Amino acid sequence: MLKGRRAIVTGSTSGIGLGIARALAAQGCAIMMNGFGDAAEIEKLRAGLEKEFGVQAAFNGADLSRAADCEQLVADAGKRLGGVDILVNNAGIQFVSPIENFPPERWDAIIAVNLSSAFHTIRVALPGMRQRGWGRLINTASTHGLVASVNKVAYIAAKHGIVGLTKVVALETAKSGITCNAICPGWAKTPLVEKQIAARAKDEGIPIAQAEHDLLAEKQPTERFTTVEQIGALAVFLASDGAANMTGSVIPIDGGWTAQ
Ligand code: NAD
Repeated sequence: MLKGRRAIVTGSTSGIGLGIARALAAQGCAIMMNGFGDAAEIEKLRAGLEKEFGVQAAFNGADLSRAADCEQLVADAGKRLGGVDILVNNAGIQFVSPIENFPPERWDAIIAVNLSSAFHTIRVALPGMRQRGWGRLINTASTHGLVASVNKVAYIAAKHGIVGLTKVVALETAKSGITCNAICPGWAKTPLVEKQIAARAKDEGIPIAQAEHDLLAEKQPTERFTTVEQIGALAVFLASDGAANMTGSVIPIDGGWTAQ
C-alpha cells in the first residue's frame, strides 16, 4: 500500500516508534530510523527491516533535543531515501515529579524532545512535500495531550503543545495534499512505561505484576495495554489514501481512558 513512499520515524529504536516503523515497512515504505541505543542492536533492527520487508532502511542518530540535528535528520533522509513523504514525530522522554521538585533542566529537555523537535522537523520537511503535492505528518501525542495527571508537568505541557501544533499545521497545509494528525496512545508497555511500573512497585513495595495492574486499572478501562502493533496499524491508516481527508485530527487509542 505504501510502496515507493519514504518515511522518517523519530525514536524508532524502541517501543512505539519501532512498532510504527515496522508497520510502515510492512506496507513497502522505505524507512529512516532514528533514536538512541546500542549501535550493534540498532544495526540489527535496521538490517532486520530490510530483510523482513524488502525495503530500504537507513539510520540516523540525530539528538532531537537540538534544532540543528532535527534539520540534519530530514536532510539526510532526503539524500539517502530520495525524499520524505511521511514524517512521524514520535521520539519522547518522561520525568515524573511534583512541580516544586521538578528539575528545570528536565523541563527543558522534555519540551525540546517531545515538542520542539516536531516543529523543527516539520518546518524543514514541508517544502519537499509541498513540491510533490503529497505528505503525511503524524505526531505521537498521548492521552496526556488531552487530559492531565499529577507529577508530569513537562510531559503534559509538551503533549498538549503538540496537539496544538498538529492543528495549526493541518490548517496551513489544508489545500496541499498534505495531512497532519496526532495519535494519542494510552498506556503501551514500552521501556518508557516499564520504568514507571518499576518505580511504582518500588515506592509501594508491591510486585511488578500488581503495579502493572494498578497502573492500568487507574486510567484505562479495558485494563489492557495498547500494543505497538495497534499503534503502527493506526499510523499506516493515516498514511493511506483512506485518510486523505483526515487532517487536524487528534486520535485516542487508549482503551477508553479519555472517554471517562
Ligand atoms: P521508548 O522509551 O520505548 O522510546 C522512545 C524513543 O525515543 C527511543 O527510540 C529513544 O531512543 C528515542 N529518543 C529519546 N530521546 C531522544 C532524542 N533526544 N533524540 C532522538 N531520539 C530520542 O518510549 P515509547 O513509549 O515508545 O514512546 C514513544 C512516544 O510515544 C513518545 O513520544 C511517548 O511520549 C509516546 N507515548 C507513549 C505511551 C506509552 O504508554 N508508552 C503513551 C502515550 C504516548
